[in-house]
Amino acid sequence: QEKTVYNFNAGPATLPKAVMLKAQEEFVNYRGCGYGIVEESHRAAPFEEIIQAAEANIRKLMGISADYDVLFLQGGASLQFAMVPMNLMVPGKKIAFCDTGEWAHKAMKEAKILGAGINLVYDGAKEKYSCIGDVSSWQFDQNDAYAHICSNNTIYGTAYNQYPDTGALPLIADMSSDIMSKVVDVNRFALIFAGAQKNMGPSGVTLVIMRKGLAERCPETVPTMLRFSTHIKAQSLYNTPSTFSIYMVRLVTDWMLEQGGVPAIQKLNETKAAKLYAAIDESGFFRGTCAKADRSKMNVCFRIGEGNEELEKKFVSESKAAGMIGLKGHRAVGGLRASIYNAMPMAGIDALVAFMKAFAAKNG
Ligand code: PMP
Repeated sequence: QEKTVYNFNAGPATLPKAVMLKAQEEFVNYRGCGYGIVEESHRAAPFEEIIQAAEANIRKLMGISADYDVLFLQGGASLQFAMVPMNLMVPGKKIAFCDTGEWAHKAMKEAKILGAGINLVYDGAKEKYSCIGDVSSWQFDQNDAYAHICSNNTIYGTAYNQYPDTGALPLIADMSSDIMSKVVDVNRFALIFAGAQKNMGPSGVTLVIMRKGLAERCPETVPTMLRFSTHIKAQSLYNTPSTFSIYMVRLVTDWMLEQGGVPAIQKLNETKAAKLYAAIDESGFFRGTCAKADRSKMNVCFRIGEGNEELEKKFVSESKAAGMIGLKGHRAVGGLRASIYNAMPMAGIDALVAFMKAFAAKNG
């Protein structure tokens, strides 16, 4: 019998087993056409159907209105750190940044490279990014070009439980690590971007959801391939997109709809996270690293004691031997991290919790 391995990697990450099996089945001979989808032209009817279905699924799952374009781009979320300011910067205006972790910080750096002035609305570095705090106290200058947030901080394990009110200021969100994990009112955002490789599929495609009209701001000096307007006009087919990644996104979003959509998945995610945090808090051995109110339901970061590196190493190697991979914390922060995206089944959480209990009993 096949061994079950639970994959707690932060991204690329675990995908639904049913989706993996379907992709396997269709890989060599896509729906009877006699060849694989990776071999198909991005201009041919089978792929057209796929990209349209992927978009329709995403619109349905997130409740995206006709006021928004949905794009499938390349270059990862990291390219969006540059592409967003390139397209949306306004001469003489600053960009508001809420620095809640490494990914928000990297986005801010790119805006600086492009010469944008920065309004640092929140500086989480002071608290070592262990919290987000009360966003209602944040001050936004309505004269800025836009405001940038990172909705879920993959490395530090914090997330917004409430988004800041930026007034008329367009709000841009990097939702790479929590997109479609909970119900979000898309209308609050001018632009949302997310790499696919956590909740939506494999790496290689980046989803951009963008309010219509916003792309018109783009200065004329921005190259064709880096303009949102290019991809809007060509419906993400200006050049060859990552066809296989988009195919996988279609399968994952089909699966999400079968699960009952985002509300049903959110409920499961809440139960999964609550179980895991309870195991940490009740252990007297493990310690969560973030402010409880700001804990991420996607990336659960914890340490052993005050940061016992020897035991943490042992935890990683023994958990791997027990069929659980990817539990090492990000190299920037150390410790342990369990990434429990949509596709992580409850059985994976139960296995991890049981392993943690046994490990604490043996080593406590
Ligand atoms: N933003 C967030 C929140 C992330 O977690 C990551 C990747 N872990 C990135 C951006 C960078 O994404 P990519 O590797 O797709 O450029």
